Amino acid sequence: MASQIIQLHEKLVNKEISCTQLIKEKLKSLEQNQYNSVNFLLAESALAKAKIVDDKIAKGEKIGVLEGIPFGVKDVFMLQGEHASASSNFLKNYIAPYTATAIQKLIDAGAIPVCKENADAFGHGSTSENTIFGAVKNAHNDQLVGGGSSGGSAVNVAKGYTAFSIGGDTGGSIRQPAGFNKVYGLKPTYGRVSRFGLMAYTSSTDCVGPIASSIEDIEIVMNTISGKDYHDQTTYASSPITLNAAPETLNFSVGYYSDFIDNKGLDADIKKDFLAVIEKIKAKGITVKALNFGSTDSLVSTYYALAMAETASNLARLDGSMYGERATADTLKESYAITRSEGFSEESKRRIVGGNQVLSQGHADEIYLKARALRSQIMSHFDKDFTEVSVILSPVSPSTPPSIGSSLKDPLAMYLSDIYTIGFSLGELPTLTAPVGTATGIQITTAKKQDELTLQFAKFLKEVL
Ligand code: GLN
Repeated sequence: MASQIIQLHEKLVNKEISCTQLIKEKLKSLEQNQYNSVNFLLAESALAKAKIVDDKIAKGEKIGVLEGIPFGVKDVFMLQGEHASASSNFLKNYIAPYTATAIQKLIDAGAIPVCKENADAFGHGSTSENTIFGAVKNAHNDQLVGGGSSGGSAVNVAKGYTAFSIGGDTGGSIRQPAGFNKVYGLKPTYGRVSRFGLMAYTSSTDCVGPIASSIEDIEIVMNTISGKDYHDQTTYASSPITLNAAPETLNFSVGYYSDFIDNKGLDADIKKDFLAVIEKIKAKGITVKALNFGSTDSLVSTYYALAMAETASNLARLDGSMYGERATADTLKESYAITRSEGFSEESKRRIVGGNQVLSQGHADEIYLKARALRSQIMSHFDKDFTEVSVILSPVSPSTPPSIGSSLKDPLAMYLSDIYTIGFSLGELPTLTAPVGTATGIQITTAKKQDELTLQFAKFLKEVL
């Protein structure tokens, strides 16, 4: 699909539609949608921003490419004066006191946030069913899940309700719902985009990134939201991404993990289609190496040990005294206990209890430090593989989207379904889901800070397939 942003920009500039009309149309379709993709509409502020753009156009002033473009925001980001519920009971009435850096940069460029989007509460989940706003339905089949945790964001883009959306990806939450709804989703290199104003889940893997219907839109948004931010010490300065590099510089060498593909849990059609993609790439004269990851089993356990530990620690701040709902009780301790048991969902509680176990005295060395050591090994493994190839391809998910309700019965099966996304999160690597090749797309990963190459390869792949 061609760039939504450019198309809308041209319509605004050519006065085929006013910004107010455009925003009204989007608000209407978001409001009427049957997919549970929206938690809150930002009608008042969006229409006020649209008027400013219309006034500028009426005066004959030039507008930037993002000015007046409607976008969605996963409901785990702060946007001053608006709800930030994390799709949880705990924060259902919480109003953000400040704005996240990535969102502010888009607003500064003139883009207009139109809604806060449904997701798994606090990013905990892979289906967007762990939410107080109703399970998000898949854009292509409303009996199936929208994927998670940024399910609402992917569905809104797939349905054209937003030009693009901003999601958060800790272990696959941008890439997997992008794959499930057949759109693009990028988890940038850890630190390329500021996490300031994103509610912390696993701080050491949390990334902010775009979901969009074209690679060009991912490029435009990335070039707006990236950069060093003194509010987030893990950020770094990066140069803009350009998709149109000279062809001779695109000397790709491709790898894929054969043990990812031989995994018994992988759907037979996804496997067949993935291998067909590999053949098509080879037919273009590109060298493709079958690599061996070696310890795929440790990926899920390492990720979940660290994710649970970090989220238990991050969510300790939610006890009713500072943010969100507060239950009254006879003693302060009782108030904390009731507030937390009412505020958190079953899935979030499972992770908090698990995480506190991982970090507890007597177990921390055995579990937490071991997981940290395994993560270092996983990172070195990727570093070594990227000395041999420049791009690694993998499936996004082992199976197609499950039907709504079926995953809730088996949390372990849900954790295992993250097998292909979480490794690259532990590795801090830029990874894009491209909606090509298999029913749930293909993941394109490159070495750290090579986000540009990831997108360039996606462009190449789109042309090859
Ligand atoms: N499904 C993974 C989890 O539940 C990833 C979620 C995310 O990236 N926020 O942890």
